[in-house]
Amino acid sequence: MANVVWHKNFRILLDLTRDDLDHPEFPGLWDLIYATDRFYGRRSVPVSERDLQCGGVCRDMGVEAPMHLRMRGGRREAVHERREDEERHSVPMSDEHKAYQERILRAAHEGGFGGDSEVRTRVGRTWIQTDTLVEGADGRRIGWEVQLSTIDESGLRGVRARAGKAAKNGITPAWHTDRLAYAQRNDTHWTRSDRLPAHLIARNGDLRIVSGFRALDFWHCDTSAVYPCPDGVRRCGKAHATAKPRDVFFDDMVRQTAAGTIVPIQFRAGKTMHRYWVTSADRDRLDDLHGNDTRLPADRDIAPASGASRNRPTCRPATDPLTNHAPKDLPYIPALPLQPPPPAIEAASPPTVEHINRARQRSDGTIGLPSELITLQRAADDAHLKLQHLSDNLERDVQRRVWREAAEAVQAAVTHYARTKRLNRYEVEARLRQLVRNPTQ
Ligand SMILES: [Zn+2]
Ligand SMILES: [Zn+2]
Repeated sequence: MANVVWHKNFRILLDLTRDDLDHPEFPGLWDLIYATDRFYGRRSVPVSERDLQCGGVCRDMGVEAPMHLRMRGGRREAVHERREDEERHSVPMSDEHKAYQERILRAAHEGGFGGDSEVRTRVGRTWIQTDTLVEGADGRRIGWEVQLSTIDESGLRGVRARAGKAAKNGITPAWHTDRLAYAQRNDTHWTRSDRLPAHLIARNGDLRIVSGFRALDFWHCDTSAVYPCPDGVRRCGKAHATAKPRDVFFDDMVRQTAAGTIVPIQFRAGKTMHRYWVTSADRDRLDDLHGNDTRLPADRDIAPASGASRNRPTCRPATDPLTNHAPKDLPYIPALPLQPPPPAIEAASPPTVEHINRARQRSDGTIGLPSELITLQRAADDAHLKLQHLSDNLERDVQRRVWREAAEAVQAAVTHYARTKRLNRYEVEARLRQLVRNPTQ
């Protein structure tokens, strides 16, 4: 039996413990569904061809488990058709799993954050069931899902769908395991600890995350660099980032994800989507590396000394995958995505109103674009390149503003030029970038 039933055709979850099935918007829902199910029964329609499935652990594990309804002693009951589905419910949560739930809540509490286990979050007509939900700073919600080696591996399905649904609804999914095979999956941001007995997990002592967290190494692609250039054989002179595995304490992970100082990132390398956790400082610096004139990183205030988090989304939408070229000899620590290589930068002064006005007026007949547009684009690229080479946070904040202004200047000039010449703005911009960044092509 299960208390939560999934209606395949209505696409809603039904909570049998509530009179209205937790759907006050549909009066008489139980009567309708129960009568329909009995009608199917009288017509000998197989349970698997009817409307109802288990909406509890079976669905959580990605198993479609047919159910039928009955009344017993005035109580509503949903019954699994298959014994193996019913047995899935009787497997008690392991002591290790319970120890993790308690540890997460304790660590969160010590960091000043609340939370609860087995939380059901209403989402439209359905729910999201979260193993342990931590309520973090600035409305941040971290949904911990613990999947230990004690569970049946075949049961772990639909991870990406569940994690995606949580993320879409404001819950940052944080899946933790002690099983190597899970940690190597790329379907969500897995963290892994060594396999430990419940009494050690429950204790206050060190519990380490041994995979899933990375420190980003920002480096300059010159002759002294230790990593190969991810873009090619030669040194390109740009800044790159390489992700290196690093252990963190489990309790710190719980608290810092809640605070927003550890955040998930994802990027594509070849056909694989890589997902892991980094500090928000590393993520911000990576944003500076990836940004371009039309997709500037969010403007940030000078970071406070406390390291308190900025109010930024902690989960990137999967629709915006970062492209990447992983060096072949570093399969598990690929360098992160990069900008196209810039040309040798000429000394370019920051753009001024005068620059922009002149860009609007003059045109260089030999290349088809005003030379002032080229000057502005060079200034913006130069400012971005400078930003990529800075490591100091304050200097980067200042330089990010310089870049932002330069990028806005060139964007405005391109818009104005395209409009007055009745040209396609996108094409003007693409041509300009090609002229500035790859002048030989
Ligand atoms: Zn079930
Ligand atoms: Zn390079």
